[in-house]
Amino acid sequence: MTRDVETRDELPDWAGAKEFYQKYDPKEIIGRGVSSTVRRCIHRETGRQYAVKIIEVTPERMSPEQLQEVRLSTAKEMEILHQVSQHPFIITLIDSYESSTFIFLVFDLMKRGELFDYLTEKVTLSEKETRCIMRSLLEAVSYLHANNIVHRDLKPENILMDDCLNIKLSDFGFSCVLKPQEKLRELCGTPGYLAPEILKCSMDETHPGYGKEVDLWACGVIMFTLLAGSPPFWHRRQMLMLRMIMDGRYQFSSPEWDDRSATVKDLISRLLEVSPEKRLTADQALQQPFFQSHQREGGPCVTPYHRFRIAAWTALACVRILVRWRRARPVTRELLIRDPYGVKGIRRLIDACAFRIYGHWVKKGERQNRAALFQNQPKALLLTMGDDEDPEGEG
Ligand code: ADP
Ligand code: MG
Repeated sequence: MTRDVETRDELPDWAGAKEFYQKYDPKEIIGRGVSSTVRRCIHRETGRQYAVKIIEVTPERMSPEQLQEVRLSTAKEMEILHQVSQHPFIITLIDSYESSTFIFLVFDLMKRGELFDYLTEKVTLSEKETRCIMRSLLEAVSYLHANNIVHRDLKPENILMDDCLNIKLSDFGFSCVLKPQEKLRELCGTPGYLAPEILKCSMDETHPGYGKEVDLWACGVIMFTLLAGSPPFWHRRQMLMLRMIMDGRYQFSSPEWDDRSATVKDLISRLLEVSPEKRLTADQALQQPFFQSHQREGGPCVTPYHRFRIAAWTALACVRILVRWRRARPVTRELLIRDPYGVKGIRRLIDACAFRIYGHWVKKGERQNRAALFQNQPKALLLTMGDDEDPEGEG
């Protein structure tokens, strides 16, 4: 049975919690948020697995204002979730319960967890995999925007994956319904993913505010990160990183981006467009060649036009292979000593080793430091590690 947050005063303190525990058996912790813990849980009657987000609202630990804020923001999150949960790429809210000390939100269980951890495991993703993830994400964003909802916290930690690596967008804690022509001014989100207009508006009172476009900027940051393994905007000093964002200063640097297609770079640069008016919308992004040249996998349908295209692409690929083979530098001992990172295979090996050794040290949220592993300058890495002491002494 679902309880409305507003009706809590009519309920005995423990009623919601008792109902939850009668229906579900909570198991191990699978994630943590700022004021919540997420556990796997089992529906006692059917044995089905779910995830429960348990939000603490204990008066001993919070001021009355904080309590009120958490309750109100959770009510808002639930309202939005009820509105959008039926979309295939958005997490489904199954049930919700409330007691005087805890709020329980029961969701679909996404067994593979966060895209963030998947990326840390894989270091970088292929264009094919990125296309699949970004297409689903942009379809979810397009649906939200069509319903005048802005997410405001798009990042790999809030994109969850199931067993088959399909994604669903989650965490609507910062989401907001926009009235027509309404602009927002609140500074919220995660630093590396903040759009320039959010930062500008927080520094300039005369700024007109921001809208849905901020989600498309975050999509650009996510897409860049999936392909490069490191984010486009990162600096050890946060102020300098924010400056880079406001100027839209990032690079498709060599050698990481040498093998990436022109269509993927073009799409990223149209999403990481400083001016929100010129930035692509979700629907426009889905119409770009990066997606249009590769339709979602369906049944086989080979028309004469398709056959011609396949033949043309095959011929082109043969020419490219021939040209590359001719240009290929033999991997000599000298080359390996002088520039090992310039050789693709060795580069992958170095990155994979770095993530094996320091993967645990790549933190989430504000202290995002995935980029430092790619800085390719021992001094930068050491300085950052020094700044960010590892409490477990593992780093
Ligand atoms: P917060 O708003 O506090 O960030 P989230 O809703 O993002 O909370 O949940 C925190 C973490 O819990 C997520 O980043 C993820 O690791 C895990 N998690 C949340 N929902 C699910 C789910 N449905 N299936 C699996 N893991 C989840
Ligand atoms: Mg989250």
